Amino acid sequence: MLKTHAYAAASAGQPLAPFTFEQREPGPHDVLIDILYCGVCHSDIHQARDEWGGAIFPMVPGHEIIGRVSQVGQHVTKLKVGDMAGVGCMVDSCRDCQPCRQDLEQFCLKGVAFTYNGTYMDRKTPTRGGYASQLVVAEHFALKVPEGLDPAAAAPLLCAGITTYSPLRQWNCKKGDRVAVVGLGGLGHMAVKFAVSMGAEVTVLSTSRSKEADARRLGAHAFEVTREEGTFKKLAGRFDLIIDTVSAQHDYNQYLGLLRPQGAMVLVGAPPEPTPVAAFALIGGNKRLAGSNIGGIAETQEMLDYCARHNIVSDVEVIPIQKINEAYERMLKNDVRYRFVIDLASLNAAAAR
Ligand code: NAP
Ligand code: ZN
Ligand code: ZN
Repeated sequence: MLKTHAYAAASAGQPLAPFTFEQREPGPHDVLIDILYCGVCHSDIHQARDEWGGAIFPMVPGHEIIGRVSQVGQHVTKLKVGDMAGVGCMVDSCRDCQPCRQDLEQFCLKGVAFTYNGTYMDRKTPTRGGYASQLVVAEHFALKVPEGLDPAAAAPLLCAGITTYSPLRQWNCKKGDRVAVVGLGGLGHMAVKFAVSMGAEVTVLSTSRSKEADARRLGAHAFEVTREEGTFKKLAGRFDLIIDTVSAQHDYNQYLGLLRPQGAMVLVGAPPEPTPVAAFALIGGNKRLAGSNIGGIAETQEMLDYCARHNIVSDVEVIPIQKINEAYERMLKNDVRYRFVIDLASLNAAAAR
């Protein structure tokens, strides 16, 4: 077994603190990754505070993982020692059911093994995430990170990147489409970059007026504050597609009013509380309300290669692991520009002392 240094929440809502655990030695189809950086997703906060229910403690969060491959099993072909590798939200699935065969491992009928706050396919061994020194993972679930991408800024692509790239592709985002991105946080700022790169005319809908200059720097063509009077009236019927990344409860009906007939609103933000949707908000205009959950491994690799070609990475604030609890508090105040990324060298340095 491999002794691994990490940070964990001992129980729901407890501040994260140093923690060690053991994980399996790499098998013939596994790679061992020495973790360099791990992005901080709002899903880490939802889960460390057990806001979605069913959380498993102690919990080592983190599913935006980048590191160097330091060991490979004898049958591994995808990666070699020294390669830059990434791991997102999944570490295993049955790889045999229909969704798995369709490259939609996240919908594995046996239940995907999420990177943390889940169990491996034996349904006993808890999975532990990227706020840690190393990770052993089946090669199928390790991504090849193009060498041109800065590793710290590329880490958030493994969740925030694929989660916003996938719905834009599913809804065929293209030149001239009017796309609105709701919420300018980790997911939102990636949605803006991708939609702009696909040629869309992008509007950011934010609660924070202070983010306007950043939105425009990211490529957005327009910026509107949803808490200001008249915004929903002014933009009524305007958008082909709305990507909603908001982490807290809000009124979907209001945003559906911003779609043109036959337009679609895709929820990627995952507030814990349900929100009622009026039938008439959809019926008037044949509107579509949809959801999207991360993306399969093949699409995640496609997204990373797309990012290398289009020079897209995340805007990050790199922090030592010791600042993780502070980072959570800042994210809850919408004070993130636009993704915190943990430099795991801070963990290794502390462990060595
Ligand atoms: P984040 O960086 O904290 O950004 C969320 C943004 O939502 C905030 O910056 C804020 O933007 C806006 N917001 C927050 N509270 C709001 C409120 N009460 N009303 C309106 N807007 C509000 O979070 P993230 O990491 O991007 O994650 C966003 C959500 O996506 C989370 O719920 C997360 O769990 C979920 N998620 C889903 C998937 C998936 O597969 N579907 C994958 C990853 C994450 P402004 O300041 O611009 O208003
Ligand atoms: Zn995430
Ligand atoms: Zn499966």
